[in-house]
Amino acid sequence: MELKNYVSLCKDCRNRQGFIDRKNLDEPNECFICNNLMSKLGTISNTLVARLSDGYEFRTFQIGVSLPSSYIEREDNIRSRLKIKGRNNIKNQFLLNLREMFKHALLKEIDYVSPDIRIDLVINEKNEAFFNIVPAPIVLACKYLKKRRGIAQKSKGLAVTRNQILEDLQGENSFSLEEVISEYLKQLTLGEKVKFSWIGGEDKESLVLGKGRPFFAEVIGPKRRVLTEHNISLKENGIELCVLSTSRMLPQSPLKFDSTTRVSITAERLISIKDLECLTSLSGRTIWFRNKKKIIRKAVHSVKLGKIDGKNFVLDVFAEGGLHIKQFVGGKEYCEPNISTILGLKCECLSFDIMDVWLRDQHALEVFQRLPIRKNVNERKGMIWG
Ligand SMILES: [Zn+2]
Repeated sequence: MELKNYVSLCKDCRNRQGFIDRKNLDEPNECFICNNLMSKLGTISNTLVARLSDGYEFRTFQIGVSLPSSYIEREDNIRSRLKIKGRNNIKNQFLLNLREMFKHALLKEIDYVSPDIRIDLVINEKNEAFFNIVPAPIVLACKYLKKRRGIAQKSKGLAVTRNQILEDLQGENSFSLEEVISEYLKQLTLGEKVKFSWIGGEDKESLVLGKGRPFFAEVIGPKRRVLTEHNISLKENGIELCVLSTSRMLPQSPLKFDSTTRVSITAERLISIKDLECLTSLSGRTIWFRNKKKIIRKAVHSVKLGKIDGKNFVLDVFAEGGLHIKQFVGGKEYCEPNISTILGLKCECLSFDIMDVWLRDQHALEVFQRLPIRKNVNERKGMIWG
């Protein structure tokens, strides 16, 4: 070890090796290990604080750093020559100091497991600092109502902007619910992307009424994350959205739900109440149908006959979520039993509206606290309502 190298260490790098500091020692022009990086900690911390003060909401953070490998190699080199062991290395010390500075400057807590925000810091050989700020996704438990026909639930995957949606006042372009909600939530959270986890679905021409359909929206890269549960709602062009609560994770498995669907049906000839009475036998039945290559089973809790007009009639079906309504009416694809065969009449579904959705899961009970949740479906079995 040349004395030259020992002398040309900055104060931090000397102390870290356990060298006894000589008083009145001038700081070297350039530290042999860190190129004077340690003296720039304050500036780096200030820059980072300024970047994060620009709209990032978070309570906890975690910082990781990548230093040039040459810094670590030079320190290792000195340590192996002088047989210095069991001391913090430059990377650990840099990170510890930075975390502490940062914690005090912003009054935020460090969370190693699940931080609100992750900061990746890269330092190059010129001691220039590059930050990558990665907010953890947030999951919003929401519900929506659809009060106008002609709005598809899911998007076709085309990119749209909020301005395009706002300019489309008459709904001529018929943006999907997914697109409208996605833009709204991105604006609300300043997030980059929204992923949806639906709890059931409906047709473009279907309305969604009652208390609305619950669903989850996961916002990727949100700058704002401290969303109050109140007053977050959207009413736009027939779409009503309400954000009910926030959570960290999407449900791990599909949620169980029931829904009441008002189905408009047309038969191949004129029909009477008497013709349709036999449909009440569907209450309490299990329906088997084909979905893609699978045979699926869903329970119909009850059916109620509505208005009859010539060939057309209305049926309210209270059933387990996921029953394929069009198949259930027409029976073109495998569905057993179905309305057409029970009536002995060819029938077709003209349209259907979702009158209400009822969640049954424990997870849903916890997350969608402000939705009406039906704990015991049997209470309503066979019940007639309108
Ligand atoms: Zn140094």
